[in-house]
Amino acid sequence: MVPHRSLVRMIEANELTKRYGRTTAVRGLSFTVRPGHVTGFLGPNGAGKSTTLRMILGLNRPTSGTALVGGRPFGALPRGLRDVGALLDARDVHHGYTARAHLSVLARSNTIPRRRVGEVLEEVGLAQAATRRIGGFSLGMKQRLGIAAALLGDPPVLVFDEPVNGLDPEGVLWLRTLLRRLAAEGRTVFVSSHLMSEMESTAEQLVVIGRGELIAAESLTAFAARGTRRRVAVRTPDADALAPALLAAGASVEAGTDGLLTVTGLPATRIGELASHTRAVLHELIPRSSSLEEAFMELTADSVEYTTAGDVR
Ligand code: ADP
Repeated sequence: MVPHRSLVRMIEANELTKRYGRTTAVRGLSFTVRPGHVTGFLGPNGAGKSTTLRMILGLNRPTSGTALVGGRPFGALPRGLRDVGALLDARDVHHGYTARAHLSVLARSNTIPRRRVGEVLEEVGLAQAATRRIGGFSLGMKQRLGIAAALLGDPPVLVFDEPVNGLDPEGVLWLRTLLRRLAAEGRTVFVSSHLMSEMESTAEQLVVIGRGELIAAESLTAFAARGTRRRVAVRTPDADALAPALLAAGASVEAGTDGLLTVTGLPATRIGELASHTRAVLHELIPRSSSLEEAFMELTADSVEYTTAGDVR
C-alpha cells in the first residue's frame, strides 16, 4: 500500500472537559497522538475513554477545550471516513443488513470506491460471511465488521474503542498484527482498553487516564518505570514466623504454595534482616521489578470504581 501523505494525522486534546450534569466525565485532558505508532488509550472502566473518543469524533461536544484531528475539529474535516476511520460500538449496526450491504451504504455515502467493500471484508476475515445478516453475527464478528468499516476509506487516522471485546484468542492475535501494520504504514492508530495486558504487546505509546484526568502520556517503557511497588519473592520453610514480622513492619504479604511469600512494600535488605531477627531460614530472596500491569494498577488504583475484595494491602 502507498504510504499516506495526508497531513490529517495528529490527534490533539487540549484542556478537554466534558460534564454531564453533576458528573465530570473528562477533566482538563491534554495529550497528543502521533502517526507511526499504536497508541494505547488506557484507563479503568468509567475513566472517560469513550467520552474522549466521542469528542475527538465530533459526536459529543466538549464542555470546554478542544479535540482536533490534523489541526481541525472533526466536523471540519473534508473527507469523512477517508480522513478518520473509527469503531466505537460494534453492536451499533443495522441487524437486518448483510455485512456487504452495510459496508456498501457506508462506501456510497463517503464516495469510497465499491471495490473497497470486498477488500476490507477480506482483510478482516469476513469474506465468507459477506452475504449473511449482521443480526446473526457474534460480537467478535461485529467487531471485525466495525474494523472493516473503519478501514473502508483507507484513512490516515484510526480510532478504536475497546476493539478486543468479544474477540477469541485467534482474533486478538489477528487484531494485534493488524494494528501494528496500520501504524507501520504511517497511520495514527489510537486504541482504547481497560486492560493493560491487551496493550502490552501492541502499543508503543500510552495515554493513561483515571477519573477523567490524565495520569500519563508517554512510551510503554517510561510508564513501566514509574511503578514503585516493588515485589520481593521470599521462599522460606518458616513462613509462620516470618509473615507476621513482615506485616508488623508494614509490608503486604501474599502467601503462595511451597513456602513462597510475595512481599510488597519492603526492600529485600529489610526482609533479610527481619528473617534474621525471627530466625526464619530463607531459601530464596528475589527482588522483582514491577511490570507494566503493576504500574497500571498502582497508578490508577485511586480511580478504580470497584476493587476486588479480599486483597491483602
Ligand atoms: P470509559 O469509556 O473509560 O469506560 P466513559 O467515557 O464511558 O468511560 O464514562 C465516563 C464517565 O462519564 C462515567 O462516570 C459515565 O457514567 C459518565 N457518562 C458517560 N456518558 C454519559 C452520559 N451520556 N450521561 C451521563 N453520564 C455519562
